[in-house]
Amino acid sequence: MAPTPPTPSTAASAPADPLAESRERTQPLLFRCGLAFLLPLVALNLWEGRVLQASIVAVLCACLGLNLWAVGRGRPAPVSFALLLLPGLAAMWLVVEKRGPTGLFWAFPAALFFYFSLRRSVANACVGLMLAVGVWRAWDLIGGDVALRFALTLGALVGVMNLILSALARLQERLAFEATRDALTGAYNRREMTTQLAAAVDRQRRHAHPATLLVLDLDHFKTVNDTLGHDAGDRVLQGLVGLVQARMRRTDTLFRTGGEEFVLLMPDTPVPEALTLAEALRAQIAAAAWLPDRPVTASVGAAPLQPGQDVNAWLRAADQALYAAKAGGRNRVVLSPSATHTGPTVNAGTSP
Ligand code: GH3
Ligand code: MG
Ligand code: MG
Repeated sequence: MAPTPPTPSTAASAPADPLAESRERTQPLLFRCGLAFLLPLVALNLWEGRVLQASIVAVLCACLGLNLWAVGRGRPAPVSFALLLLPGLAAMWLVVEKRGPTGLFWAFPAALFFYFSLRRSVANACVGLMLAVGVWRAWDLIGGDVALRFALTLGALVGVMNLILSALARLQERLAFEATRDALTGAYNRREMTTQLAAAVDRQRRHAHPATLLVLDLDHFKTVNDTLGHDAGDRVLQGLVGLVQARMRRTDTLFRTGGEEFVLLMPDTPVPEALTLAEALRAQIAAAAWLPDRPVTASVGAAPLQPGQDVNAWLRAADQALYAAKAGGRNRVVLSPSATHTGPTVNAGTSP
C-alpha cells in the first residue's frame, strides 16, 4: 500500500487575515480609487447645496489623501480604515434622512470595502454597526418593510463574505504548507531550510546564540529500494521522520534535503547536547523495526555554527562530517573537525 502523504492540520495554523498581504500591495490603488470616486461627490453635493454632506465626504477625501501621501513615502497609513466608518455612517444617516432608501444602497459597497481593507473581526464589527444604524434610521424614516429587507440583504452579504474569507484562509494555509513541506514525509523542504538557516546565522551574529546542525543520511538505502521496492523505502523515510520528530525539541526543525538525506537544525544547542541527541537518534534508528529481518542504519554529521560562518560554510562543515561518518564505516556520528570541541569522531556504532 502506498504511504499516505501528510496533510496540514486544519485548525492549528489557519491565518487570521488572509488578505493582509494583498491589502498592503493594493493600498495606494485603493486610496486613489476612493479619491476618484468621492471627489466628484463633494462637487455634486456642493452644486446641489448640500453643504453638510459635501463637508463629510470632503473629510473622507482628506483622510484618503493623507494616507496616499504617507504610503507614497513608505510610511504606514496614518488614518485607519476603521475610522472611515464614522464619516461613512454620518453620510448614510444624512442621505437616508434627506433622500430615503438610496442612502442604504451605499452600505453594500462600504461593507465590501471594509472586508477588503480591515481584519475580519474589525470588518464584522464595522459592518454590524452600519447594519444597526441603517436599520434604525430606515425603520424610523422609511418603514419596517424596507428596514427588514435591508437587514436581510446586508446580513446575507456578511455571511457570504465570512464564508469566502474562511475558504481563502484555508487555501492560504494549504499553500503555505505545500510551499514549505516535503510531500512524502511532512518534514520541511530545502527551500525552507535556506530561510531558517539564514535566520539562525543572523541570530548568532546579533546575539551569539549557539546552534548546531545534524546532517543525517540513511546507509545503503538504494539496496532497500532495489530489494524491497519503493513503497517499503517510502515507509522507512516516513518512519524516520516520525522517529526524529518524536525525539527532537519543539524548537528544533527537521528538513528533508534530498532523497534519504535530512538536516536537523537545533537552535540554542551547544555541541555536547547535540551529540547526545545525534547518538540517541542513531541508536533508535538502528533498533527500529521498519523492515522485516533487516535493520536500517544512518550516518550523522554534526557541525556547530562557528562565529563568522555563513550558511554554505556551515552546511559544508556538516556534510564533511557526514562523509567522514560514511568513510568511517557508516552507522555512526561524527563531529565536524572544524568544531573547536573535543575532536572529529565522537560516537561509532556497529557498521552493518
Ligand atoms: P550511502 O550509504 O552511501 O548513503 O548509500 P545510499 O544507497 O543510501 O545512497 P545513494 O545516494 O546511492 O542512494 C540513495 C537512494 O535513495 C537512491 C534512491 O533509490 C533512494 N531514494 C531517493 N529518494 C527516494 C524516495 O523518495 N523514496 C524512496 N523509496 N527512495 C528514495
Ligand atoms: Mg544514503
Ligand atoms: Mg544521500
